[in-house]
Amino acid sequence: MSEKTSLSTKLPAKLYIVATPIGNMSDITYRAIEILQQVDLIAAEDTRHSGKLLSYYQIKRTMLPLHDHNERKRTNVLLDKIKAGQSIALISDAGTPLISDPGYHLVNQCREAGVDVVPIPGACATITALSAAGLPTDRFLFEGFFPVKEKAKLDKLTSLIEEPRTMVFYESPRRIIDTCEKIVKVLSFKRKLVIARELTKIFESFYHLPAGEMLDWLKQDEDHCRGEFVLMIAGCEKQQAIPQTGLTTLKILKKELPLKKAAALTAKIHNLKKNDLYKWGLENLSADED
Ligand code: SAM
Repeated sequence: MSEKTSLSTKLPAKLYIVATPIGNMSDITYRAIEILQQVDLIAAEDTRHSGKLLSYYQIKRTMLPLHDHNERKRTNVLLDKIKAGQSIALISDAGTPLISDPGYHLVNQCREAGVDVVPIPGACATITALSAAGLPTDRFLFEGFFPVKEKAKLDKLTSLIEEPRTMVFYESPRRIIDTCEKIVKVLSFKRKLVIARELTKIFESFYHLPAGEMLDWLKQDEDHCRGEFVLMIAGCEKQQAIPQTGLTTLKILKKELPLKKAAALTAKIHNLKKNDLYKWGLENLSADED
């Protein structure tokens, strides 16, 4: 037990942001357990879900639901309680609160009001996935969940074509195939992907494949789409010499024409080199791409 938080201490009136496991119940720090044992109140995304964690660690504390739909209303109540001397922990269903989880408004308002916010670090699916994926981690881009709507998803991917950093997404089993299809379409069938599935759980697994092969693998068997996913996209290897407008034209023309003809027309329209476009097409557009 740390010096700062022995069981007999009354915790200072602050907001504690406590990371909880993302699967394996043992992935929680001693400090997190101490804090949860000692706070006056625990604000939890889903109190039934978090109840299992608390009973596993025999923590008996009052919980209050705080989720996307009531966060703004709850923030005032929780702020008043902290100002009145209570200590409050915020937890989410899994991992680190605020990382694709509720809590931003509450933390922001605490900061605005001069209330101390204390992070209690621990599991996070992004960092867990990156740490074992084998993709560059010196710099990375966390994008959370993809937009659900078709156009917004395509626009998001288009904006990332030249992104050189490793990109990290959360994705649901219902949408993983659709997302891979769009990655093939926008980023090419060759772009390297890593899927980290069921991290820290019994069926934890990592799959490294080019986007086209990942799509085939996902479609092979319904079981391949089950579980929780972190999807990582390798960054663009070299800065694209061909401007995006040229690539877009080439892709559109390639749907109607042989690559050679499509490259020649694109070159004329955008004043580009037809050999560069042809080479890019060979490397990035599959022969049967629609
Ligand atoms: N706050 C969490 C964190 O720190 O990672 C993320 C919460 S977000 C609502 C839930 C998403 O995270 C899931 O849909 C999945 O994409 C990813 N995720 C959470 N746990 C995971 C796990 N054990 N394995 C793989 N992905 C996981």
